[in-house]
Amino acid sequence: MHPMVKPALRRGWLDLHTAQFGMAPAHAMVLGPMDRATGRFLDLLDGTRGLPLLRDEGRRMGLTDDRVDALVERLAAAGLLDDVTGGGPAADTLRGRETAIRRLRPDLAALSLVAREPGEAMARLAARRTLRIQVRGAGRVGSTVASLLAGAGVGEVDVRDGGHVDPGDVAPGGLPAESVGERRDLSARRAVRRAAPDRPPRVSASAAAGEDPGFGLVILAPRRAVDVHAPDPADTDQLIASGTPHLHAGVVEGTGVVGPLVLPGETGCAGCLDRGRADRDECWPRLVAQWRSGRPHRVEACDLALAATVAGTAAAHALAFLDGRLPSCAGTRWEVAAPDLVWHSRPVWPHPACPCAAAERGEGNGKHPSGEEEPHATMAEQQPATSSSRTAHTARRSGTWRAHV
Ligand SMILES: [Zn+2]
Repeated sequence: MHPMVKPALRRGWLDLHTAQFGMAPAHAMVLGPMDRATGRFLDLLDGTRGLPLLRDEGRRMGLTDDRVDALVERLAAAGLLDDVTGGGPAADTLRGRETAIRRLRPDLAALSLVAREPGEAMARLAARRTLRIQVRGAGRVGSTVASLLAGAGVGEVDVRDGGHVDPGDVAPGGLPAESVGERRDLSARRAVRRAAPDRPPRVSASAAAGEDPGFGLVILAPRRAVDVHAPDPADTDQLIASGTPHLHAGVVEGTGVVGPLVLPGETGCAGCLDRGRADRDECWPRLVAQWRSGRPHRVEACDLALAATVAGTAAAHALAFLDGRLPSCAGTRWEVAAPDLVWHSRPVWPHPACPCAAAERGEGNGKHPSGEEEPHATMAEQQPATSSSRTAHTARRSGTWRAHV
């Protein structure tokens, strides 16, 4: 182990004996009180020294080996340390791909803020290279989500859509103007390759043998607004049956939608959403039938900045899930509408009549107190997902976390 104080956290001294790591409260930590030698020792934790060398240098500063070991251990337990050699063989392989890692360095630093263990950030980044995901829909939202995920290091991003690129599909970060008139799926896949920092690793033995390894996540980003507002349960039947996690995202009129992330059999799905709406509003099925019938709407409203907002948020939630966390869109639709652009979450309750069977599992059991689909939180009210895990040696101080060394 070559310990390094996470470089993503900017350091500042509150007084001679107390340091604050990080500026923003979500991940900041206050360290102290500490003596002068301990303060100087922190400067040695820059990833260039292993433990034996750190103990040597510690002794020269008057710190015993035990004190050095305890310090490293406690800093690691507080989530302040990374290990520049850690993360396992896949991480070592990625470290060897210099061009890719230079591109991904800011993403690695960002991952280090949510990954607790030394070396874990690089392990997670390396794990992204082995993932297969699919994006269905290559309009302004879908093509941008696909490019973002490829750019963030996801190894294989497949894009599905029909038809040819319309001038209105063009979006910065998504399909370029040169692709107008080309097949949508091919153009989107080309955009994905262009966004990727690296070639994906070779296919696994099982995939090479013709076995379909499936997708770790499917993102449904339909171009048609009605499919965003009222996703057709039939479109996700196969995903539910195969147990494939999937995330809905898109723009309907002036509203951006991210979620729900559906964990089949565990959280509410498109079928639950549809049944719940029909329970609350007897006109709902009639309206949906009208929206779906007839000729396609001539021009679908899709604000370019709103589409980019939805794509970025959907990609961030997708990455959180792919990195092993449960984002706040699981079982929830986040919605943001012009012109105030405040995010609201609307729960998608598991419905007892839905064949996905999430209601049999979840606490909600299909019953919820209000029966309403009212917003129950804004993003600003959400707590950081890792807050409950930060207990050892820590206590809250004016929006930061304190660790005692
Ligand atoms: Zn369901």
